Amino acid sequence: MVTSRQCIFRFANGEPCRAPPLRDGEFCRMHSPEHIREVQEARRLGGLRRKRESTISSAYQFDSLTSVEGIRRIVEVAVLDTLAMENSLSRNRTLAYLVQVALHTLEVGDIEARIAALEELAKVKK
Ligand SMILES: [Zn+2]
Repeated sequence: MVTSRQCIFRFANGEPCRAPPLRDGEFCRMHSPEHIREVQEARRLGGLRRKRESTISSAYQFDSLTSVEGIRRIVEVAVLDTLAMENSLSRNRTLAYLVQVALHTLEVGDIEARIAALEELAKVKK
């Protein structure tokens, strides 16, 4: 029978790690004593990254691209930044492209609102 090897680290609650160990060790990369510095550095960079994302996100009043509202906000930011640039053919092309994206976003937002309204109506009639 082939048994898959597991990291021998145990968490404070006694649960085993269950991650596959490094090829020439008993621990996974996260728990390997030889990789402590590497793991700490990755955690530190991850923390810095999250902090930076949160700062930028609040500076631009932008949440995420998962909603029409978020997408609309990004298009607004891009339009304002582009408008602030010196007039040029490429600025006008960028603005025309952003207008197309904005139109599409408005359409999707409108369809979303109509579907939500229809769903509400369907709930009432049940
Ligand atoms: Zn582990």
